[in-house]
Amino acid sequence: MIEKYKTKGKCIGYLEKQRWSGVPLCPYCGSSKSSKKTQEFRHTCHDCGRSYSVLVGTVFEATKLPINKWFAAICLIINAKKGISSLQLARDLHVNKNTAWYLQKRIRKAMQDDDHILKGIVEIDETYVGGSMANKHYIKKLESGNKYTAGMEHMVPILGMIEREGKIILKVLEKAHGKEIKPFVKSKVAPESTIITDGFGGYFGLDSQFKSHIILNHSQNQWKINQFNTSTLEGFWTLLKRAIIGQYHKISRDHLQEYLNELAFKYNYKHTNMFKILLNNLLQPKYASS
Ligand SMILES: [Zn+2]
Repeated sequence: MIEKYKTKGKCIGYLEKQRWSGVPLCPYCGSSKSSKKTQEFRHTCHDCGRSYSVLVGTVFEATKLPINKWFAAICLIINAKKGISSLQLARDLHVNKNTAWYLQKRIRKAMQDDDHILKGIVEIDETYVGGSMANKHYIKKLESGNKYTAGMEHMVPILGMIEREGKIILKVLEKAHGKEIKPFVKSKVAPESTIITDGFGGYFGLDSQFKSHIILNHSQNQWKINQFNTSTLEGFWTLLKRAIIGQYHKISRDHLQEYLNELAFKYNYKHTNMFKILLNNLLQPKYASS
């Protein structure tokens, strides 16, 4: 991919096809009458007379960074299954670390999937991740099934919700508390769904909001009732913790949500053309400003 989009011409060509399907549209007056200035990858509008490129009004225009660096950054980020640090990104792209950090931040922003509502059978569970390697042994304890271990005040709670055969939503919580959990679940899960949780008190009362609420009593070793379990989410937690321990020794709380968005995006779009989806997102005006 990086080889394929090495030149500005190739990148611009791809974006023009995505944004305009072959007919350039003036971003200033909306006219489709233009002539091409091939050498500069720009078009001159026949109605308002202004000159424009496909990058006008997008995040790509706001930076002076060569477009092929964006394409390469997207390829590297998509292909890193557990994520890539901004330092590694800087080395691979031959840019300085601030530029790499900026690219990563912008690309992750375009990985948000705000509109999706989960439905059907939805597993809901919370987990905790530590900010440093010092907490690694707590994570091990947590994985052994004992959720509420001493020392957890240093850890960050994360709520996960996943549709059977569908998408996942991850959210960093201030506190693993019903006051924060319940409104979020209600806003992201359709009422006709069946939700599955463990016996954690933060989920109490959700039964009145959904078609049904299956509660598994994990503390009494109850891991499933008929076909209802939370094993998809538990599998995801294992991956998440490995990714965080392996790649991000000190992932700060501030950046954790963006990192989770990246992992969720990769999970949700694993059978699609992520490259195309991301570039389409990045072309949207809403990603142009910070
Ligand atoms: Zn125009």
